[in-house]
Amino acid sequence: MLRENLPECYFNVRLNINNLEDIKAIAENIKELFDIRVELPSKLKLKIKESPDLTHIPPCRWVLERGSYDPNQQEIRLIGPNWCLKTIIHELLHALSIFYREEDLIWSSLIDFRNIVEALTEFLTGYVLYRKRDEKPCYDFWLEKTYAPCKISYEPYVKIFAALSQVLVPLKTISRLFFCETYHDWQKMYDHFLKTYKLPHLFKNWRTPYELQEEILNALKKYYPIRIAHRFEIILENELRNLFNYSRMKKF
Ligand SMILES: [Zn+2]
Repeated sequence: MLRENLPECYFNVRLNINNLEDIKAIAENIKELFDIRVELPSKLKLKIKESPDLTHIPPCRWVLERGSYDPNQQEIRLIGPNWCLKTIIHELLHALSIFYREEDLIWSSLIDFRNIVEALTEFLTGYVLYRKRDEKPCYDFWLEKTYAPCKISYEPYVKIFAALSQVLVPLKTISRLFFCETYHDWQKMYDHFLKTYKLPHLFKNWRTPYELQEEILNALKKYYPIRIAHRFEIILENELRNLFNYSRMKKF
């Protein structure tokens, strides 16, 4: 349940994040955690906007945004009263990802398979929060949806990746595909990924998360011992704390 009062850390974060250098320090932390060498865009800008933005998601949805990353302007925007550390990590992951770095992928990532890109971004955001859980309360707030700025986004899609990572695909593999340090090889890497794990094409304009879930489930039933498909289904029904227990995911 959402609580009225925000925690002290929210005010501290917002007091201490004022410019690009402040979020670059957080990016260094993220790079260390994932052991990656990709750089933030060279012209990266940060814009902190006081008033909230309504963003149009085609065809007919409007959402109140906490933050965004514009790959064309190379700009991270923190918007209105609802951004906090979780938002910054999420947007930095966008800026570091291949999806918003590689020209060929940007448009599709923004429109066609936006849900998948967002789900992967939030899934890895959760991992960062999980690893920092002894120092910061964000991971608990993320799971328990205690406060609007910290709660998990794109939950139905993110759950699918969490379950998949517990039964089949190591977190390391997902992160490699997400950051793709060798710029030109993404398509090759992705083809190899699909072949290795015998999964359906993931980067599609799924109408609902259930459609994605069903296709993955069918592939698991077809190519793996039936217990794998059963585990996938059971894990998806787990409470979020078990589903997003990153120590249960296939190892890095
Ligand atoms: Zn996003």
